[in-house]
Amino acid sequence: MMLPRSIRLVEVGPRDGLQGEPTVTPVEVRAQLVARLAAAGLRHIEAGSFVPEKLVPQMAGTGDLIRQLRPLAGVRLSALAPNLRGAREALAAGAGEIAVLTAASESFSRRNLNCDIRESLDRAAAIAAAARAEAVPVRGYISCVLGCPYEGRVDVERVADIAQELHGLGCQEISLGDTIGVGAPFAARRLVERVARAAPIESLAGHFHDTYGQALANIFACLEVGLAVFDSAVAGLGGCPFAPGATGNVATEDVVYMLQGSGVDTGVDLERLLDAGAFICACLGHPPQGRVARADAAKRARAMDAHPSGGGR
Ligand code: MG
Repeated sequence: MMLPRSIRLVEVGPRDGLQGEPTVTPVEVRAQLVARLAAAGLRHIEAGSFVPEKLVPQMAGTGDLIRQLRPLAGVRLSALAPNLRGAREALAAGAGEIAVLTAASESFSRRNLNCDIRESLDRAAAIAAAARAEAVPVRGYISCVLGCPYEGRVDVERVADIAQELHGLGCQEISLGDTIGVGAPFAARRLVERVARAAPIESLAGHFHDTYGQALANIFACLEVGLAVFDSAVAGLGGCPFAPGATGNVATEDVVYMLQGSGVDTGVDLERLLDAGAFICACLGHPPQGRVARADAAKRARAMDAHPSGGGR
């Protein structure tokens, strides 16, 4: 079996993660989180989104956040824009990438994006043109690629058609989102194989949620067919306000642990990543969702019991 030597992780905790948290995290804390993630070795970080504050208060102040973080060397700071206006704000703030959203299910698109799939693709095209004019890359997200909370089954051919259109309109990367975490490895792999005939596999990314405990298995299954970019969120932050019951994104710590143990380089320092997760969870007031972070916390607690004066990692 051939695995890639290295993969790229796209850290989505500061946007996709924090947006799904009930607590509103101040810009200062969000900036510290991104800086800690960058210090852990993550080089592609979705920092925030340009959505109206009254709709998503968790993402208020993303312009200030991006301006503060711009000096971070070598880190691509991505920002989600739901429309051209948001994209212009993101570009003015100096975002290093604009992310656009569409879905593989009409019902989800209407609930989440307030428009049908066609309109979301037209918006994406307008955003891509504006970003291209400033030489800023665009990342497209397709939600619900392996299942929809309202419609159930999602047609693989439809996902492939949407990916092809996103690629054609200038998305340099297309993230395939199992938004409600219902996919299992064989379906995930079959999806990637089919979509890779519509858009180059080098332009695809996998975005898995761990709702049904399938995320790591899905990532591994996709890795085996050549997918080499995966989205994940530190501490497994987030959920989806429009998909009731959906748990957070797969935890970056879990993905890094699995890949390191399989000889695949992620460029991420797991210890520093765990520190970043502990930092944000202390601010949010809940424990990390990932298994590796929980195991690590238990190990540290045992070390503290054995050596009360020293302990720790
Ligand atoms: Mg997600």
